[in-house]
Amino acid sequence: MSEIIEKVVHLFENHGDSQYGGEAVSQLEHALQAAHFADEAGEKKSIIVAGILHDIGHLLHHLPDDAPENGIDDLHENLANDFLQQYFTPEVVEPVRLHVAAKRYLCTVEPEYLDILSEPSIISLGLQGGPMSADECTEFEKNPFYADAVKLRRFDDQAKIENLQVKDLSFYVPYMEAFVK
Ligand code: FE
Repeated sequence: MSEIIEKVVHLFENHGDSQYGGEAVSQLEHALQAAHFADEAGEKKSIIVAGILHDIGHLLHHLPDDAPENGIDDLHENLANDFLQQYFTPEVVEPVRLHVAAKRYLCTVEPEYLDILSEPSIISLGLQGGPMSADECTEFEKNPFYADAVKLRRFDDQAKIENLQVKDLSFYVPYMEAFVK
């Protein structure tokens, strides 16, 4: 196993049991479910791997799980980007960096999307800037990875199911290895 994948596995082993901000699942369960739903939908491997890694920013800071309820945006997408871009190719890193922007985008282009957002997601939406303006949407669509980020976002939103049986992290190790640069 490469050094970085070992590091990722250790992060999940050491911090993955923390609660996923107000949801019914842990960080590890959330990551595995996001990958599972991407796989089930027949998505390409970069999106499956992005599913595993998209919230790694939450494992890299020491803020409490309920920070958003106290008005604090942990900026986990930026932390993830700073960390991941050192080791992984852009097809994985860019959707991760953009997965919060993708939520703000979907709220504008698909107003009914707001209905499926969980309570914690709605609380953090406010801290993250709220729905995008029309200009922000146009700008967002210029990113070559925006569509992948939107896909990732939908798997992220699904990945909050209590006690869902999914494959464990070791299954995804070779998938992650394939995107180490
Ligand atoms: Fe997430």
